[in-house]
Amino acid sequence: MTHSGRHFLQIPGPSNVPDTVLRAISMPTIDHRGPEFQELFSHVLTGMADIFDTANQVVIYPATGTGAWEAALVNTLNPGDEILCFETGHFSSLWKAQAERWGLRPTVIPGDWRTGADPQKIQAALEQDTGHRFKAVLVVHNETSTGVTSRIPQIRQAIDAAGHPALLMVDTISSLGSVDYHHDEWGVDVTVSGSQKGLMLPPGMSFNAVSQKALDAHAKSTLPKSVWDWTEMLASGKNGQTPYTPNTNLLYGLKEALRILHEEGLENVFARHERFAKATRAAVNAWGLEVLCTNEAEHSPVLTAVVMPEGHDADQLRALILEKFNMSLGAGLSKLKGKVFRIGHLGDLSDLTLAGTLAGVQMGLQLAGVPIKSGGVEAALEVLKDS
Ligand code: PLP
Repeated sequence: MTHSGRHFLQIPGPSNVPDTVLRAISMPTIDHRGPEFQELFSHVLTGMADIFDTANQVVIYPATGTGAWEAALVNTLNPGDEILCFETGHFSSLWKAQAERWGLRPTVIPGDWRTGADPQKIQAALEQDTGHRFKAVLVVHNETSTGVTSRIPQIRQAIDAAGHPALLMVDTISSLGSVDYHHDEWGVDVTVSGSQKGLMLPPGMSFNAVSQKALDAHAKSTLPKSVWDWTEMLASGKNGQTPYTPNTNLLYGLKEALRILHEEGLENVFARHERFAKATRAAVNAWGLEVLCTNEAEHSPVLTAVVMPEGHDADQLRALILEKFNMSLGAGLSKLKGKVFRIGHLGDLSDLTLAGTLAGVQMGLQLAGVPIKSGGVEAALEVLKDS
């Protein structure tokens, strides 16, 4: 079927790229050893430190988030180190699997994929570790596979209450720039992030924010590192340079994305995402369907995972909505395949984009014969209108 109008990309990242960012990216590539690049790179390094809310210099990689995950591990840890991971969903499991491939030895606190990393369970595991075998605690801030946002300040408190020296590493790949976050204030040692979600850029750029404690660990870390080596990245970054060829055009895009975020104001951006999530949940509840996240304090501001009623397949629904309404929704990942679909409401979208998205979901559910109550879209509109 051919479609008029724009495709609705309502997956939880990559998110829609604003037109001005696309235009910025289309500028001619410049000499990355020249003065113009130096100014650009210094500018975006400062801008990204603001977004992470850190006083330290950040690291920018020409890689997707998976690269920045690996960078966090190989820059701070030693072969065979034990680490503590909390299983929040698909992405926490992938990060853990990556650590295993590096010869690290993860202990996993199992989760139910419907709630976030439990600070009490982390505290209990660390209190038992009197010999301080665990060198790092790995947590995904916004678990993109489930729509659950873990409470990082409480996890920091849990580590402190246990008096444990492990590094705290946090994946903010699908939260940074959409959800309130403070690397320094929250005592995070390594924050990992990516370009293609809250930062409204195409995929292909990722980040590490670091604490002094992480830098001290880095100085002693013996895992092999080359492309990811913080020492070289930080040293050249100080002069507005990179150790190897950067993805210059994405950096133009980043400069523009930072401008857009600052123009709206980060607090307003965060509040807008909360509103979108609230309106989406109002629709899901009015349809009589279930939101996957079961903890009121942990609903994700950037996406909502919706549980399909027994006997209905989420992937068939997504295929129908794509065919009929030209809209992409997020699939259920690994053990949630076919069981949930995910509505992305992050990045560059307005009240009316969300209303259109929910209208498409509602029509799709009706056409697929999923038993829903009427009034879902109206319930969302009430939230958008009144807040
Ligand atoms: N972590 C989270 C929370 C993610 O959502 C993703 C990707 O969606 C990743 C890690 C992996 O990042 P990438 O696909 O950019 O390598």
